Amino acid sequence: MIFLKTEDEIELLREANLLVGKTLAELAKIIKPGVTTKQLDKIAEEFIRDAGAIPTFKGFPNPYGGPFPASICASVNDVVVHGIPNDIPLNDGDIVSIDCGTSLNGFCGDSCYTFLVGDVSDEVRNLCKTTKEALYKGIEQAIVGRRLGDIGYAVESHCVSHGYGVVREFVGHGIGHNMHEDPQVPNYGKRGSGPMLKKGLCIAIEPMITMGSREIIMDSDRWTVRTRDGKPAAHYEHSLAVRAGKADILSSFEEIERVLGDKAI
Ligand code: MG
Ligand code: MG
Repeated sequence: MIFLKTEDEIELLREANLLVGKTLAELAKIIKPGVTTKQLDKIAEEFIRDAGAIPTFKGFPNPYGGPFPASICASVNDVVVHGIPNDIPLNDGDIVSIDCGTSLNGFCGDSCYTFLVGDVSDEVRNLCKTTKEALYKGIEQAIVGRRLGDIGYAVESHCVSHGYGVVREFVGHGIGHNMHEDPQVPNYGKRGSGPMLKKGLCIAIEPMITMGSREIIMDSDRWTVRTRDGKPAAHYEHSLAVRAGKADILSSFEEIERVLGDKAI
């Protein structure tokens, strides 16, 4: 069941989502070779709790195994999504997708950004750049009168035109009181198909894009999702409200990219 949000509810969603952007910006300040994703997780959790919010990911249930043990997902290189923070230091040339969720005043924030660690090859930078572009191509379609399939079509066609793979097993979603609400928002689709987008629909669009094949495998921890071929994957996510003419992006990369300066892609 799809719940459309009122303007007041959208403002509360914006607060939760802006906190995610601020949390990711805190991490942007310290991501460099030698830092561990567990260190990043600790900083994120403290920052979220200091703001009076709850890290939504921590304890998030898993139908296949134990609850998620951390406040961020940290997915390095061939990890597509749901990487568990660990003690392995980041290396020069890595990429790390940090996905983060907050619960604030009864509403959820959810956003993800793929960071470059040190000096990253042009090939991998292009994967990140194209994935971020695809996110905004999808957002352009998130307006009143378009259909859900228009979003997926825009994301998919942009990435496929660059020769990349589009992961299908994990998708975007509605967002509100719960982090994952209806409808599912796939990163592939047919133009003009699916439910009509209405004012007040709030969704997260989150392309998960692979350098090689789109086939994935899951680690024995039942969370970590990797590319089968071991090639890198990128992941960017915004939460937004559908409006007439132009989507209202509720999360923000602004502070992240201010911190990154000319290193932002
Ligand atoms: Mg997310
Ligand atoms: Mg999400």
